Amino acid sequence: MSTASYTDTRLLIAGEWCDAASGKTLDVVNPSTGKVIGKVAHAGIADLDQALAAAQRGFEAWRKIPANERATTMRKAAALVRERADAIGRLLTQEQGKPFAEAKVEALAAADIIEWFADEGRRVYGRIVPSRNLSAQQLVMKEPIGPVAAFTPWNFPVNQIVRKLGAALASGCSFLVKAPEETPASPAALLQAFVDAGVPAGTVGLVFGDPAEISSYLIPHPIIRKVTFTGSTPVGKQLAALAGQHMKRATMELGGHAPVIVAEDADVALAVKASGGAKFRNAGQVCISPTRFLVHNSIREEFVKAMVKHAESLKLGDGLADGTTLGPLANPRRMSAMAKVLEDARATGAKVATGGERVGTDGNFFAPTVLTDVSLEADVFNNEPFGPVAAIRGFDTLEEAIAESNRLPYGLAGYAFTQSIKNAHLLAQQVEVGMLWINQPATPTPEMPFGGVKDSGYGSEGGPEAMEAYLVTKAVSIMAR
Ligand code: NAD
Repeated sequence: MSTASYTDTRLLIAGEWCDAASGKTLDVVNPSTGKVIGKVAHAGIADLDQALAAAQRGFEAWRKIPANERATTMRKAAALVRERADAIGRLLTQEQGKPFAEAKVEALAAADIIEWFADEGRRVYGRIVPSRNLSAQQLVMKEPIGPVAAFTPWNFPVNQIVRKLGAALASGCSFLVKAPEETPASPAALLQAFVDAGVPAGTVGLVFGDPAEISSYLIPHPIIRKVTFTGSTPVGKQLAALAGQHMKRATMELGGHAPVIVAEDADVALAVKASGGAKFRNAGQVCISPTRFLVHNSIREEFVKAMVKHAESLKLGDGLADGTTLGPLANPRRMSAMAKVLEDARATGAKVATGGERVGTDGNFFAPTVLTDVSLEADVFNNEPFGPVAAIRGFDTLEEAIAESNRLPYGLAGYAFTQSIKNAHLLAQQVEVGMLWINQPATPTPEMPFGGVKDSGYGSEGGPEAMEAYLVTKAVSIMAR
């Protein structure tokens, strides 16, 4: 499996794969080896103009297709993604690093998400409102907002696109995505499934290039009616401001800093299994990754011991090698970030219970790390670490743990473990997050809302709320003459 092939990636414009007009490309690097494995086309303004014109034509064609037929086409695409999950997973692992099993699950989950949205698109209902004049009929109509510009990151190259793409297409919008330059081939394989399923040319488009150049061109462009971004909070704030200036509807799925509250009455084994699994999935490069472990002091030692055991049981290696359960970090930026996080944690008094350093010299391998006695001032307890580091602190009262959970400006995901229904209700009411999982790992299904509050952004990428983001409301009153 480690000899899997990798393909160069081109732009998808008007249903055709093409090189950039300038011929410019960027290298794609395998994070397990540090070696260049392929190239990706780098779009310039001329390419973006063509992609925009195609998105407009694609919108006009796609919106005229009845919702049930759009659903059939989307279901065809989902079936192709499912059929190709092995191949997509292999591309994804080579460019992003995560273990093949995780990459394949990402592709399979994409098929599930597309199917859910396909069906949801058949239930976009308006309403008839009783009129004050019996000769008039008042209609509330829901219409697709128009061509969408999406910007997605490298941590889940397929999943981050498909939540946006599914909702956009099901609503009748066309969709132009600037996907991550570092992980381009798996997004291309995802979009290929839609081309093969027969969406009209321009309904889906894919570009790569300079992220800032592309977003500053697409967001203000009159063809684009909706902006959706997943990535860091600082970049999200810039893009939201630009969207605001141009009166564009926006969804922002930004950074988090998820608390994990392990109450005095928690099932410790369950807490370690669920939160440890979530912590080290995708090497911690997950917006909903548990990042601040708050453990009741009476069970802290037991919890730390079990978390260390869990971390040490992981097999670090190339994601395509048999048995690997933890891959490399996706890019060298994350390696420098981890080195800084560890230096700062040590300097502010944290103890390294396991890990804490780079492994080997080739590739971006960082040991699964558990930190204890972490100071509230430590960088890791204030800024999203986005890496394989579990930072643990003790607490004495649940109120104290809730106050710490809400201390930061972020509010994306949260986790809690308790066997008391009273505590569970208190946590549900008081923890300021968009998603809270109690006594279980994260289960971000397409039917549940997915999104954050506060600096973690706004809008939702799951459930019926996700569809609303791509629809506009028109009030029509028809007087009989
Ligand atoms: P970054 O903040 O520069 O980039 C994050 C993503 O935003 C990338 O995909 C990038 O291509 C894109 N981006 C950056 N500037 C942009 C612009 N002006 N217009 C459009 N897109 C733009 O840095 P990074 O090193 O890739 O990641 C750093 C941090 O970002 C991580 O530590 C993490 O906190 C956050 N991040 C979050 C997610 C998420 O799922 N919410 C995903 C990836 C990264």
